[in-house]
Amino acid sequence: NKPATGKPKWLRVKLPTGKKYTELRGLVDKYKLHTICTSGSCPNMGECWGEGTATFMILGNICTRSCGFCGVKTGRPETVDWDEPEKVARSIKLMNIKHAVLTSVDRDDLKDGGSIIWAETIKAVRRMSPGTTMETLIPDFQGIERNIDRILEVAPEVISHNMETVRRLTREVRIQAKYDRSLEVLRYLKANGAKRTKSGIMLGLGETEEEVIQTMHDLRNVGLDVLTIGQYLQPSKKHLPVKEFITPDQFKKYEEIGLNLGFRHVESGALVRSSYKAQKHIL
Ligand code: SF4
Ligand code: SF4
Repeated sequence: NKPATGKPKWLRVKLPTGKKYTELRGLVDKYKLHTICTSGSCPNMGECWGEGTATFMILGNICTRSCGFCGVKTGRPETVDWDEPEKVARSIKLMNIKHAVLTSVDRDDLKDGGSIIWAETIKAVRRMSPGTTMETLIPDFQGIERNIDRILEVAPEVISHNMETVRRLTREVRIQAKYDRSLEVLRYLKANGAKRTKSGIMLGLGETEEEVIQTMHDLRNVGLDVLTIGQYLQPSKKHLPVKEFITPDQFKKYEEIGLNLGFRHVESGALVRSSYKAQKHIL
C-alpha cells in the first residue's frame, strides 16, 4: 500500500471571496480572533463564513493526544484560562456568527477533561448571542459520563464526536482513542437527550469500501443523525501519508448508502470537513 502522489484536480480550490468573507477576515485580523478556519487554512472559508458559520477551538492550542492525522501540537497544555468562555463568546458576537461550531483539544490532564470550560463557553455564547445556534464537537472525555453530562445539560443544538476512521485503522490514526469508546459516547449522547448527534470520518487512509460501510452501520446502530465524510490530507510530512484519493463518484456512492441507511444528513465529498455546511445540520 504505497502513498498516493499528486493532488487530483477536484482537490484544488479557489481562494475565498465575497463581501461577508472580507468583512469577517478584517475583524479576525484586527482583533486577533482565533478560528480553526484560519489556522487550518480551510478551503471552505468563503462558503462557511458567507453563511455565518465558523469554528472556534477552546482549551488552548496544545493537545495531550497525538493523532497521526492531526496538525495540532502535542505536549503539556497551558493552564486553563477561566476567561476563555467570555472571550470566545465575545468573538462570536463580534463576528455576528449565526451558527458556531466549538471544538477543543483533548485535555486528558484535567480531572473534568475540560468539560467545565466547555459548559461555561456554551452558556456564555447563549447569554451574549441568544440567536446563535451551536454545534459542539467534543472529545471522548475518556468515556466518563459525568463529563459528558455537563455538555448534555447545556443542550447545544448539535453534539458531535468524530470517529475519524474505520475500526481497523483507529489505533494507527488516533493512537490514544478507541473505536468502541467513541461509539459508546455517541450512543450515550443520543440515549440521554442530545437533540442531534453527528460524527465524521476521513477517507484515503487505507480503509476499504466494506470497512467504510461497516462504520456507517455501526454509527446508525447508535442512533447517529448526521455523518460527514471527507478526504484526508496530510498536514505535514511527519503525519500519516495519504494512501488514496477518493473519487467524487465514490463519495457520492457513500452519500447514497448513508441516506438509505437512514441518516438525516450525509455530507460526503473530497473537501468536506466535519464543520462543513454545519448550519444545515440543526434542521
Ligand atoms: Fe471553518 Fe469548518 Fe467551514 Fe472550514 S469547514 S471554514 S473549519 S467552519
Ligand atoms: Fe488532534 Fe483532537 Fe487528536 Fe488532539 S485529540 S491530536 S486535537 S484530533
